[in-house]
Amino acid sequence: MSLPSEMSQEPNPQAENQPASQSSSQLPEPLSNEAQVTQTTSPPLNLPSEQLQASLAAASRYLEQVNNIGLSDDVQDLNYLIDFLVFIVDQAYPFIPCPSGCSNCCVDSGLPRTSALEWAHIHGYLSQMPPDVLKQVIEQNESRHRPQHQQFLAEQARIENPDTDLALPKFECKECPFLIEGRCSVYAVRPTICRGFGYFTWRPGKERDSQIFACQMAADTLLDGLRQIHSPYAALPAWNPISDKVYALNRAQSTGVMATLPLWLMAHTDANGQILPLNLNPDFSQSG
Ligand code: SF4
Ligand code: SF4
Repeated sequence: MSLPSEMSQEPNPQAENQPASQSSSQLPEPLSNEAQVTQTTSPPLNLPSEQLQASLAAASRYLEQVNNIGLSDDVQDLNYLIDFLVFIVDQAYPFIPCPSGCSNCCVDSGLPRTSALEWAHIHGYLSQMPPDVLKQVIEQNESRHRPQHQQFLAEQARIENPDTDLALPKFECKECPFLIEGRCSVYAVRPTICRGFGYFTWRPGKERDSQIFACQMAADTLLDGLRQIHSPYAALPAWNPISDKVYALNRAQSTGVMATLPLWLMAHTDANGQILPLNLNPDFSQSG
């Protein structure tokens, strides 16, 4: 199981200030329909296979109705739906290692691609942060990432030209500026990619097979767990429809701009280390 190449820029994580799961009373009722899964499975540990499949099918249907990210806290909210999927997958495969408090992908690949829609939530959240925490976040971004501004612009060119073969820039540091003492300081409003990493499958291209959307260790641990329950296949939701939804909502409801999270923050930090007003279409080349 190879690591998706996108992982180096489209990561992470479950580094958290609170558990990713929700109470079952908040979850949509499963519907019986074709599940949005890449593979079928023999019964996993906790959830009967039929229930897992039905829940994945329900989520697939609800995805069509999703019309916001982080605004409604119901099944029309993409964050809600992702959290629901993480919950049911975690129930089915309790050996997935992400909930253990791991934040390695925030360190190794903490440059999540973040839509303008998602950045608006994070930007709003910054004003509620304790001043010392915000100061640390800004200082971390300035010290780690401002010197890599050219690499971030090169990465931005890759994001804006997805059909080209531009090389992955050589970042010297990929640690997310929002990670403080192993915890995400914007957990409540973290990007969608950070919510789902570790629990989905990912198809890197039309001619490429699906892969587990996780770090190599998490993928190997999941596969080992499946072997132990004599199940050669995992029923996991697919990330591509979620990612497509992020892009679609971002285009429909915002500027459509997508950028790495540290670059958004650089574009919203002035020379005195103060946060600038929200700009959903900044000139990133001027933020160095
Ligand atoms: S186990 Fe892997 S995918 Fe899960 S949180 Fe840790 S580094 Fe990320
Ligand atoms: S926003 Fe940063 S610290 Fe938070 S989960 Fe995502 S990569 Fe980790």
